[in-house]
Amino acid sequence: MVSIATAVKTSEEIAREVVAPSADLVDQNAQWPRQAIQSLQSTGLTGLVIPQELGGMGHGLLALTRVCEVLGGECASTAICFGMHSVGASVIAANATDEQCEQFVQPIVAGKHITTLSLSEAGTGSHFYLPQTSLEADDNGFALNGQKTFVTNGSNADSYVVSTVAADPDAPMGQFSCVVVPGGANGVSWGANWDGMGMRGNSSRTMDLSNVRLPPSSLLGNKGDQIWYIFNVVCPYFLVAMSGTYLGIMNSALEDAKQHLSKRHHTHVGLTLAQVSVLQHRLGQQWGVVERTRRLVYHAAKRFDDGDPDALIALMSAKAEVADSVVSVVNEAMTMVGGIGYRDGSRLHRFMRDARASHLMSPTTDMLRIWIGRALLGQPLLAD
Ligand SMILES: Cc1cc2nc3c(=O)[nH]c(=O)nc-3n(C[C@H](O)[C@H](O)[C@H](O)COP(=O)(O)OP(=O)(O)OC[C@H]3O[C@@H](n4cnc5c(N)ncnc54)[C@H](O)[C@@H]3O)c2cc1C
Repeated sequence: MVSIATAVKTSEEIAREVVAPSADLVDQNAQWPRQAIQSLQSTGLTGLVIPQELGGMGHGLLALTRVCEVLGGECASTAICFGMHSVGASVIAANATDEQCEQFVQPIVAGKHITTLSLSEAGTGSHFYLPQTSLEADDNGFALNGQKTFVTNGSNADSYVVSTVAADPDAPMGQFSCVVVPGGANGVSWGANWDGMGMRGNSSRTMDLSNVRLPPSSLLGNKGDQIWYIFNVVCPYFLVAMSGTYLGIMNSALEDAKQHLSKRHHTHVGLTLAQVSVLQHRLGQQWGVVERTRRLVYHAAKRFDDGDPDALIALMSAKAEVADSVVSVVNEAMTMVGGIGYRDGSRLHRFMRDARASHLMSPTTDMLRIWIGRALLGQPLLAD
């Protein structure tokens, strides 16, 4: 088995040699990081979370966190594209039939197939577990109709894990069905290119599904049992993919601040900023924020990997905390770096825009904190 340390080392090489040199162009041109994704594919990392018995590396949340952290330290767009592929791959692999293994899992493992999650819709927004896209069954399979929004890897992936409306109108919330839609399926069309404030290379696009015909083998698991997927696969993997990405931004923002303080020299006093006590204090304080947040995320990921049934609360809290921390750390780093950091084209400029998505990507920070409170109070999570 490829160890976590080896997977992380491989991702560090790709981050250094491929991701870092293209990060500014990916951001400026809002271009999907094709070259980085191809490098991840060629090293087998796109099969990171596919079980070993299906040919993948067989890793769990800790490995996904750490690889996203490494990539996110150079380019958050690349990290989230890889992260969303990994979430989609873990959803497909969770209960894959032989046919699904052949069609999707094996090509993923072979580095020839990128997938992603298409859950969000305009009508229900951050309530990503309330799809309104319809899935009608007939003798030949299914017909899919609806529209998905903010699909990361949109139009660049080879398949899309699409959530559809509850099988039974009276079914409890979250009891919807997921299908895998091949990228080239008839009836799939794409909205405008993503032009966001940050995460500019993630190709987060609107996906129109107009009478998309799918064979019965497209259904993941059993019809209507997707609440299991949401809480056992989608949420855990999604939460750490994002948490890892934002940890990476935090590490790099702190490093940029440290480098700047050591180099910036004031001629009137003959000192570097590293000798200014208030800046030493700020740097020390932010190191603590990064360190405690990293410990929280790693610990939550490991709890899940170890099979702790209460790990989900820790994962939810970790993502909410990481969102607060990344915005604060990048903000403080910019204060330490001053005008050079605020200037167009600085890494901190990009980090700040990328970091801001942390609160709004579902499950959003507000939603997570409500869910954590409900879980602690023994109330159903999906009460609205
Ligand atoms: C860069 C990026 C990439 C994304 N990638 C994907 C992807 O790959 N796949 C995918 O499916 N989706 C993706 N999304 C969508 C994302 O996960 C959210 O679903 C989406 O941003 C929600 O946006 P909205 O404006 O519709 O939220 P709204 O539902 O309008 O919410 C706006 C705000 O109100 C708050 N709010 C709303 N209702 C409640 C409530 N009941 N209680 C508390 N707070 C509430 C929310 O927390 C949020 O802060 C992506 C989004 C972004 C920005």
